[in-house]
Amino acid sequence: MKKLLSAAIFAVILLMTSCAPKFSSAEIFAMDTVMKLTAYGANADAALEKAEESINSLDKTLSVHDEDGELFKLNREGEASLSEDAYEVVKSSLKYCEETDGCFNPALFPVMDLWGFTDKNYRVPTEGELKKALSLAKPESISLNDANRRGRLNLKGMALDMGGIAKGYASLKAIEVLRESCVENAIVNLGGNVHTLGTKPDGSLWKVAVENPDGDGYLAVVEVADKAVITSGDYERNFTKNGKIYHHIIDPSTGKPAESGLRSVTVVSNDSVRADALSTALFVMGVDKATDYWRNNSGFELVLYTADKKMLVTEGLQDSLSSELSYDIVKK
Ligand code: AMP
Ligand code: MG
Repeated sequence: MKKLLSAAIFAVILLMTSCAPKFSSAEIFAMDTVMKLTAYGANADAALEKAEESINSLDKTLSVHDEDGELFKLNREGEASLSEDAYEVVKSSLKYCEETDGCFNPALFPVMDLWGFTDKNYRVPTEGELKKALSLAKPESISLNDANRRGRLNLKGMALDMGGIAKGYASLKAIEVLRESCVENAIVNLGGNVHTLGTKPDGSLWKVAVENPDGDGYLAVVEVADKAVITSGDYERNFTKNGKIYHHIIDPSTGKPAESGLRSVTVVSNDSVRADALSTALFVMGVDKATDYWRNNSGFELVLYTADKKMLVTEGLQDSLSSELSYDIVKK
């Protein structure tokens, strides 16, 4: 009898372990942030290794510091032949610059540098310095040649910064690599920018928490599959000088940290590159322009959080968002 019982218990344990989906996780530091990748399935380990390689390679390609990187070379020499990835990122950045009426500006490196956001040597620039740096932040002076993938910066001293779009592109590529490696369920979190592949292995939706800029728990949880949930917030990178907080999302019309009345913008979309560009651009726009932009365009939903602690959620997220806080629904 005893033997029979232990055989039964053994069989149940065996059944449980064989039913549990195999998964693998990796934590890496790239693009100046901590990233966590989780993939399910028999090939998860090998797939994650490839995804990591892809992210590290893009980190180098799009870095403004790495002397061996392509963006660094383009910025230093004013002209460079670009790989497919670098070319696509720069081209997308120009597209979203146009679509957001310049609120997304890919040529802000001289301005970011003045504030010390590029090397963490923070300072508040003078108006004169800002004016000069802004005169170089001219996306219309970027030329791209599709035929030979050459990029050219037509103003001496101008330089690009892909920080507002690079993580969205990196998560797109990581998810592509995982899919090509036969992974069907995965979630990658690139410093708060989340991208999901498929559903959870049990078929349920991924639950993604939206950070609360006030630091108390989460604003909300959204349930998604095959989507990116990408946030731009003033709390992500900032410094304080004489009691004033200066954050890293720049209003291209002033060269200063955007004071739009927003503290964070979360974009939910199946296009992570667009979501990343839009999270930055809509932060600059402020509530009214951002919600108008949402009304006039499709393919994404928003969670907005304002400086006066109001949360706004666009109506397409109504069924997939839960929150313990109160919020207003924005309608088309
Ligand atoms: P995100 O966290 O995606 O909003 O990206 C912020 C980063 O994008 C900054 O650290 C800068 O590198 C860059 N950036 C800041 N302001 C802008 C802007 N208005 N348009 C495009 N990129 C920006
Ligand atoms: Mg962004």
